[in-house]
Amino acid sequence: MQTPDTMRAMVLEQQKQPLVLKTLPVPSPAPQQVLIKIIACGVCRTDLHIADGELMHPKLPLIVGHEIVGIVVQKGSYVSRLKEGDIVGVPWLGYTCGKCKYCLKGKENLCENALFTGYTIDGGYAEYTIAYEAYCFPLHAMYANATGAPLMCAGLIGYRSYSMIDDNAENIGIYGFGGAAHILTQVAIYQHKKIYAFTRDGDISAQQFALSLGAVWAGDSSMPSPVKLDAAIIFAPVGSLVPKALQDVDKGGIVVCGGIHMSDIPAFNYDILWEERSIQSVANLTRKDGEEFLKLAANANIKTETKLFALQEANEALQELREGKFSGAAVLMIS
Ligand SMILES: [Zn+2]
Ligand SMILES: [Zn+2]
Repeated sequence: MQTPDTMRAMVLEQQKQPLVLKTLPVPSPAPQQVLIKIIACGVCRTDLHIADGELMHPKLPLIVGHEIVGIVVQKGSYVSRLKEGDIVGVPWLGYTCGKCKYCLKGKENLCENALFTGYTIDGGYAEYTIAYEAYCFPLHAMYANATGAPLMCAGLIGYRSYSMIDDNAENIGIYGFGGAAHILTQVAIYQHKKIYAFTRDGDISAQQFALSLGAVWAGDSSMPSPVKLDAAIIFAPVGSLVPKALQDVDKGGIVVCGGIHMSDIPAFNYDILWEERSIQSVANLTRKDGEEFLKLAANANIKTETKLFALQEANEALQELREGKFSGAAVLMIS
């Protein structure tokens, strides 16, 4: 396959400014990297936090996007596992050092020297990208299209959030019903859990979407949960949901915050944390999470609901995500 010299990319030059369509040289892979022709790239809420300046330290200019599905078209001289023609997914975790105290403890998600796709290294709002072989996930053929893209972050971070919950949890509340929630609901139902979906107040279409995926209940976030929950997972970047979810969980229950950024959490009375309730955040992912999740996704035949945009429509996709205009996940269809 002939690789061109240049590619189109949507570039963030300055935070709080729209992305700009540019023609750039196709990057060359380093010895441990592969060059990937991108098929599709999902649009994640984290991309919004980067574009809007809520995440403060991106490389600039930057190609955002960390839910990449593509095909390997060239490999560096040390690449041994992947070959040209392989379908791979590239997630947020782009590189870890393997040497810091977190890496040595199996917590590479907390690596002190990590690089993040579409944040500190270029990502997938482009026709091509390079990625370290060791951080690419081989993908099942069923995901070699737009359907696979949301699995790479919404799916993975949703799964890591879910793995923080006790295996015996039965009633699980999900707050914020977008990309991550719609994938996680399918995983949880496959494992015989009951899902209670809390959406923006009055968002009837998101509530109907949750019910259509098998949630036992859906309603406004401001409503009390109809049952005491064993666990709650918050995907909406809304700090006031933390004390709300604590009020909905039973004794010994956990509230997991799945997002990378959240508005301030208001002060709350200790009574709602008392009785061994806990609050847990989730940062990044490990490769082990990815391997476990992608196997489970294929076994459970997880499907994603996508709204497709062209590469040059990335700003429109981000705006629709900001406004909560669609169900499921936005995906840029690139080739
Ligand atoms: Zn490290
Ligand atoms: Zn993401």
